[in-house]
Amino acid sequence: MSDTRSEIRLTGVTKRFGNGLVAVNNVDLTVAAGEVMCLLGPSGCGKTTTLRLVAGLEFATGGDIVIAGKRVNELPARDRNVAMAFQFYALYPSLTVGENLAYPLHAEGLSRAQINERIARVSKVLELESILNRRPHQLGEGEKQRVAVGRSIIRTPTCFLFDEPLSRLDIQLRQTMRTQIKLVLEHLDKPTVIVTHDQIEALTMADRIAVMRAGKIEQVATPHDLFARPANLFVGGFIGTPQMNQFAAKLLGVSQASDGTVTARFHTLGEEISAVVEPGVMRLPLGSQVTLGVRPRSFLMVDPGTSDALHATVDLIEPMGAEVLLHVMERGTDLRFVVPHTTRVAAGQSVGLRCKPGQLHVFDAEGVLVL
Ligand code: ATP
Repeated sequence: MSDTRSEIRLTGVTKRFGNGLVAVNNVDLTVAAGEVMCLLGPSGCGKTTTLRLVAGLEFATGGDIVIAGKRVNELPARDRNVAMAFQFYALYPSLTVGENLAYPLHAEGLSRAQINERIARVSKVLELESILNRRPHQLGEGEKQRVAVGRSIIRTPTCFLFDEPLSRLDIQLRQTMRTQIKLVLEHLDKPTVIVTHDQIEALTMADRIAVMRAGKIEQVATPHDLFARPANLFVGGFIGTPQMNQFAAKLLGVSQASDGTVTARFHTLGEEISAVVEPGVMRLPLGSQVTLGVRPRSFLMVDPGTSDALHATVDLIEPMGAEVLLHVMERGTDLRFVVPHTTRVAAGQSVGLRCKPGQLHVFDAEGVLVL
């Protein structure tokens, strides 16, 4: 159980700007000590504004913001003791690694011994001990980044807030930094919020992800749960590449086996299919209009003569390295599915598609996942 006295808690938080735009709309969110929460969502959905509200760089027009047990709504940024980093970069070129690390501590009035103790702690975690006397031009890119991370965590703030911290780095460095930052943050036992629009970044770094759209939180869940049980069509379509297939269907029948497994029959794309579904589908009236969601890796390619499968013609083949993305056009709907690159398939070929058991998502008429 994490200590609730260290958490960040937003309750009904709203930010309406002077122009009337509601950038953050009635947001509830709790980030526990030691937890990394990523805010993920399309451009303009309110991620940065939410972070700035926690930092005290914007003030909420409604709701409560509590950090480490204290309501901070009216507190200016300098009194919130949060560590906020926009990007991990820019070391002072004339200072050594040790001096760069110590820089943020000067305002805190610490003794030399206390400063040295902090430098020792951070450089141990980030493995900087052997390079403390070097200057930035004598460092490799990875080392520079570790120093920059060290500098943003050397204080003992109430929480860590990062806005697109890795966006300036090249892909390779990003990959190593993600893991490194995650490891460091795990040891610090403070809540961390990271704003990103990069799914991979969120999926690899976050303990939980809050998916936002138009100022609201659509779902807060672990990376695995977001993928396996997207709360609604928006989250289903937003998380995962290639994008989830979504197509309209009508519920024809539902049956439950003695082991509890529920199978539903649907009319969709001019055909009838049946698939294992969540038990909640039994509550839908027969004839309900639903949307089916199937991820491109959840389709199995079967013989075109197979009954109870969707039948279509391969339209386009896109190589993706070890895998191939196939597009089939079925009654005006572009279905995408992924097969290993060794699969023999050609444009114009007829194929059957069946969903792997338990990987068909059913969304109701409001677009909400049926569980
Ligand atoms: P991005 O990924 O593009 O940075 P975001 O999800 O971080 O987007 P925000 O920067 O929080 O989104 O912006 C949310 C909305 O609030 C946008 O429509 C933006 O134009 C608007 N906005 C942000 N700051 C202000 C401001 N100071 N005054 C008025 N509107 C603002």
